[in-house]
Amino acid sequence: MADEQTFIAIKPDGVQRGLIGPIISRFENRGFKLVAMKLTSPTQEHLEKHYADLAGKPFFKGLVAYMLSGPICAMVWEGKDAVKTGRTILGATNPLASAPGTIRGDYALDVGRNVCHGSDSVENAKKEINLWFTASELLKWKHSQANWVFE
Ligand code: GDP
Ligand code: MG
Repeated sequence: MADEQTFIAIKPDGVQRGLIGPIISRFENRGFKLVAMKLTSPTQEHLEKHYADLAGKPFFKGLVAYMLSGPICAMVWEGKDAVKTGRTILGATNPLASAPGTIRGDYALDVGRNVCHGSDSVENAKKEINLWFTASELLKWKHSQANWVFE
Protein backbone atom coordinates (compact mmCIF):
# COMPACT_ATOMS: atom_id res chain seq x y z
CA MET A 1 0.00 0.00 0.00
CA ALA A 2 1.85 2.99 -1.30
CA ASP A 3 1.36 6.57 -0.12
CA GLU A 4 -0.06 7.92 -3.33
CA GLN A 5 -1.62 10.97 -4.90
CA THR A 6 -4.80 10.89 -6.96
CA PHE A 7 -6.61 13.44 -9.09
CA ILE A 8 -10.23 13.99 -8.04
CA ALA A 9 -12.53 16.45 -9.80
CA ILE A 10 -16.04 17.56 -8.93
CA LYS A 11 -17.72 17.84 -12.32
CA PRO A 12 -19.96 20.80 -13.32
CA ASP A 13 -23.17 19.09 -12.12
CA GLY A 14 -21.60 18.43 -8.71
CA VAL A 15 -20.44 22.05 -8.40
CA GLN A 16 -23.87 23.40 -9.51
CA ARG A 17 -25.69 21.14 -7.06
CA GLY A 18 -23.63 22.36 -4.09
CA LEU A 19 -21.78 19.08 -3.61
CA ILE A 20 -18.25 20.47 -3.23
CA GLY A 21 -18.50 20.38 0.58
CA PRO A 22 -20.01 16.89 0.92
CA ILE A 23 -17.51 15.40 -1.55
CA ILE A 24 -14.51 17.03 0.11
CA SER A 25 -15.80 15.82 3.50
CA ARG A 26 -15.71 12.21 2.39
CA PHE A 27 -12.02 12.42 1.48
CA GLU A 28 -11.17 14.42 4.61
CA ASN A 29 -13.15 12.10 6.87
CA ARG A 30 -11.39 9.07 5.45
CA GLY A 31 -8.02 10.59 6.34
CA PHE A 32 -6.70 11.79 2.99
CA LYS A 33 -4.78 15.04 2.80
CA LEU A 34 -5.69 17.80 0.37
CA VAL A 35 -2.62 18.67 -1.68
CA ALA A 36 -4.13 21.04 -4.24
CA MET A 37 -7.51 22.48 -5.14
CA LYS A 38 -8.89 25.01 -7.60
CA LEU A 39 -12.20 25.99 -9.12
CA THR A 40 -11.53 26.17 -12.82
CA SER A 41 -13.19 26.39 -16.24
CA PRO A 42 -10.83 24.52 -18.56
CA THR A 43 -10.85 24.83 -22.34
CA GLN A 44 -12.35 22.25 -24.68
CA GLU A 45 -8.82 21.31 -25.73
CA HIS A 46 -7.83 20.65 -22.10
CA LEU A 47 -10.88 18.43 -21.52
CA GLU A 48 -10.30 16.52 -24.76
CA LYS A 49 -6.76 15.86 -23.54
CA HIS A 50 -8.03 14.75 -20.11
CA TYR A 51 -10.41 12.25 -21.74
CA ALA A 52 -8.15 11.41 -24.75
CA ASP A 53 -8.47 7.65 -24.07
CA LEU A 54 -12.23 7.92 -24.71
CA ALA A 55 -11.97 9.92 -27.97
CA GLY A 56 -13.36 7.01 -30.01
CA LYS A 57 -16.47 6.50 -27.85
CA PRO A 58 -19.91 7.54 -29.12
CA PHE A 59 -20.52 9.59 -25.95
CA PHE A 60 -17.22 11.54 -26.23
CA LYS A 61 -18.70 14.73 -27.71
CA GLY A 62 -21.47 14.81 -25.10
CA LEU A 63 -18.96 14.10 -22.34
CA VAL A 64 -16.80 17.08 -23.34
CA ALA A 65 -19.91 19.32 -23.61
CA TYR A 66 -20.97 18.17 -20.12
CA MET A 67 -17.53 18.95 -18.71
CA LEU A 68 -17.66 22.41 -20.38
CA SER A 69 -21.07 23.23 -18.89
CA GLY A 70 -19.67 24.99 -15.79
CA PRO A 71 -16.76 25.27 -13.40
CA ILE A 72 -14.97 22.15 -12.16
CA CYS A 73 -13.43 21.74 -8.71
CA ALA A 74 -10.07 20.10 -9.42
CA MET A 75 -8.20 18.52 -6.51
CA VAL A 76 -5.25 16.33 -5.60
CA TRP A 77 -5.61 14.07 -2.56
CA GLU A 78 -2.75 12.17 -0.92
CA GLY A 79 -2.61 9.13 1.33
CA LYS A 80 -2.36 5.34 1.52
CA ASP A 81 -3.64 3.68 -1.63
CA ALA A 82 -5.26 6.99 -2.66
CA VAL A 83 -5.98 5.95 -6.27
CA LYS A 84 -7.82 2.69 -5.52
CA THR A 85 -9.50 3.96 -2.37
CA GLY A 86 -10.51 7.15 -4.18
CA ARG A 87 -12.28 5.06 -6.81
CA THR A 88 -14.04 3.10 -4.06
CA ILE A 89 -15.23 6.34 -2.45
CA LEU A 90 -16.54 7.51 -5.88
CA GLY A 91 -18.42 4.30 -6.74
CA ALA A 92 -18.96 2.64 -10.13
CA THR A 93 -18.91 4.71 -13.35
CA ASN A 94 -22.64 4.08 -13.86
CA PRO A 95 -24.39 5.41 -10.75
CA LEU A 96 -27.07 2.73 -11.11
CA ALA A 97 -24.33 0.21 -10.31
CA SER A 98 -22.80 2.30 -7.50
CA ALA A 99 -23.33 1.06 -3.97
CA PRO A 100 -25.15 3.29 -1.47
CA GLY A 101 -22.53 5.04 0.65
CA THR A 102 -20.41 5.91 -2.38
CA ILE A 103 -20.58 9.44 -3.84
CA ARG A 104 -22.18 8.33 -7.10
CA GLY A 105 -24.38 5.85 -5.24
CA ASP A 106 -25.70 8.63 -3.01
CA TYR A 107 -25.86 11.60 -5.38
CA ALA A 108 -26.32 10.42 -8.98
CA LEU A 109 -28.50 8.38 -11.35
CA ASP A 110 -27.12 9.08 -14.85
CA VAL A 111 -23.75 7.90 -16.19
CA GLY A 112 -23.58 11.16 -18.17
CA ARG A 113 -24.07 13.21 -14.97
CA ASN A 114 -22.08 11.25 -12.43
CA VAL A 115 -20.84 14.17 -10.33
CA CYS A 116 -17.16 13.37 -9.90
CA HIS A 117 -13.98 12.06 -11.51
CA GLY A 118 -11.19 10.00 -10.00
CA SER A 119 -7.96 8.65 -11.53
CA ASP A 120 -8.10 4.94 -12.36
CA SER A 121 -4.39 4.08 -11.99
CA VAL A 122 -1.25 5.49 -10.43
CA GLU A 123 0.17 6.17 -13.90
CA ASN A 124 -2.95 8.05 -15.02
CA ALA A 125 -3.08 9.94 -11.72
CA LYS A 126 0.42 11.30 -12.43
CA LYS A 127 -0.59 12.31 -15.95
CA GLU A 128 -3.81 13.98 -14.77
CA ILE A 129 -2.14 15.84 -11.89
CA ASN A 130 0.43 17.19 -14.38
CA LEU A 131 -2.32 18.21 -16.81
CA TRP A 132 -4.41 20.08 -14.23
CA PHE A 133 -1.76 21.51 -11.89
CA THR A 134 1.69 23.05 -12.04
CA ALA A 135 4.34 21.73 -9.64
CA SER A 136 4.19 24.92 -7.56
CA GLU A 137 0.45 24.43 -6.94
CA LEU A 138 1.06 21.10 -5.16
CA LEU A 139 1.59 21.31 -1.42
CA LYS A 140 4.36 19.18 0.07
CA TRP A 141 2.76 17.88 3.28
CA LYS A 142 5.39 15.27 3.95
CA HIS A 143 8.36 17.57 3.88
CA SER A 144 7.10 20.75 5.50
CA GLN A 145 3.77 20.40 7.25
CA ALA A 146 3.39 16.82 8.46
CA ASN A 147 2.77 17.53 12.13
CA TRP A 148 1.31 21.01 12.06
CA VAL A 149 -1.77 20.17 14.14
CA PHE A 150 0.49 18.89 16.91
CA GLU A 151 2.90 21.85 16.77
P1 GDP B 1 -14.80 6.81 -14.82
O1 GDP B 1 -13.32 6.59 -14.79
O2 GDP B 1 -15.53 5.99 -13.79
O3 GDP B 1 -15.19 8.26 -14.74
O4 GDP B 1 -15.34 6.25 -16.22
P2 GDP B 1 -14.67 6.32 -17.69
O5 GDP B 1 -13.26 6.78 -17.62
O6 GDP B 1 -14.95 5.02 -18.36
O7 GDP B 1 -15.56 7.42 -18.42
C1 GDP B 1 -15.36 8.79 -18.16
C2 GDP B 1 -16.69 9.46 -18.02
O8 GDP B 1 -17.40 9.35 -19.25
C3 GDP B 1 -17.64 8.82 -16.99
O9 GDP B 1 -17.39 9.24 -15.67
C4 GDP B 1 -18.98 9.29 -17.49
O10 GDP B 1 -19.25 10.64 -17.11
C5 GDP B 1 -18.78 9.26 -19.00
N1 GDP B 1 -19.26 7.99 -19.55
C6 GDP B 1 -18.69 6.76 -19.46
N2 GDP B 1 -19.43 5.83 -20.09
C7 GDP B 1 -20.51 6.50 -20.59
C8 GDP B 1 -21.66 6.09 -21.35
O11 GDP B 1 -21.82 4.92 -21.68
N3 GDP B 1 -22.55 7.07 -21.69
C9 GDP B 1 -22.38 8.38 -21.32
N4 GDP B 1 -23.30 9.28 -21.69
N5 GDP B 1 -21.32 8.79 -20.61
C10 GDP B 1 -20.40 7.87 -20.25
MG1 MG C 1 -11.87 7.16 -16.14
